[in-house]
Amino acid sequence: AKSQGRNNYHYFTPVMEMAAQKRRLLVNDLRIALAEQQFCLYYQPIIDFSDGSLHKVEALIRWNHPGHGLVSPKDFILAAEDTGMIVDIGNWVFSEAIQQVAKWKANGQSIQVSINTSPVQFRSDDCDQDNWFAQLAAMRLDGSSVAVEITEGLLMEASTQVRDKLLGFRDAGVEVSLDDFGTGYSSLSYLKQFDIDYLKIDQSFVRNLDPSSSDLALCEAIIVMAHKLGIKVIAEGVETEQQKQLLIEAGCDFGQGYLFSKPVPAARFEQLFNPTLVN
Ligand code: C2E
Ligand code: CA
Ligand code: CA
Ligand code: CA
Repeated sequence: AKSQGRNNYHYFTPVMEMAAQKRRLLVNDLRIALAEQQFCLYYQPIIDFSDGSLHKVEALIRWNHPGHGLVSPKDFILAAEDTGMIVDIGNWVFSEAIQQVAKWKANGQSIQVSINTSPVQFRSDDCDQDNWFAQLAAMRLDGSSVAVEITEGLLMEASTQVRDKLLGFRDAGVEVSLDDFGTGYSSLSYLKQFDIDYLKIDQSFVRNLDPSSSDLALCEAIIVMAHKLGIKVIAEGVETEQQKQLLIEAGCDFGQGYLFSKPVPAARFEQLFNPTLVN
């Protein structure tokens, strides 16, 4: 057993070192990305189903890597969470997003921006909520200029730290959206316990919507339940007119997806949603 243990040790050491080195490289890369402004935000509209108007936008991060071009968050957010870099990145996302909101406001368009947050940010003392609120105040923006998208797992945690931050957002008027609803641990009791403003039905339920699908029954049930709790519902990943119609018939409040627009850079977003801003 002892020699086997030793063998394991010898076998695993180089792998561990490689992983550690790869991690160091990535952390370094992400630091450089922040310092050299390689990140940018894309914006995707969230549409009000009652009249087809723009309700708000979701900000989605992109990494413009000098060697690899535009990198999807799917390829670096997990690593950024793993290494703690998500805290600095998340602080950047917040500042960038509210600066964009301030620009739009100066141009006469008041738009709420919804930003994605990681549970790691909620657990970290380096993600200083008061600093976020001070930034809003300095730009003369209300808390309601921003919504934070959180995941179901965060509500399950419910540590005092997480709870305090959620309450802090609510007290500041920042809205809270529950992202990817239905994919995590089903935490229906937490919906009642925390003051959630929006619930976002995950795109996996929207993808195969048709009049006879069980996904339609699921969407309907989620919407009824949410409304009973005073929560508004956003459907994600709306790609077709039929999906939109079924969601509207099911009572869904808002929709987001390629049917309306892909996530686009701010300048493109302005062309699409406020023609008066285009010279
Ligand atoms: P998410 O928050 O669920 O964002 C929705 C994702 O679905 C986005 O992918 C968006 O481009 C994509 N999408 C939107 N409409 C459609 C559609 O009609 N069909 C399909 N197939 N996809 C659609 P994206 O931008 O690659 O982001 C992936 C994930 O990365 C996000 O999922 C979010 O969890 C995370 N993420 C993005 N930006 C940030 C950020 O700033 N901070 C953190 N912590 N996570 C982020
Ligand atoms: Ca989201
Ligand atoms: Ca989502
Ligand atoms: Ca509320």
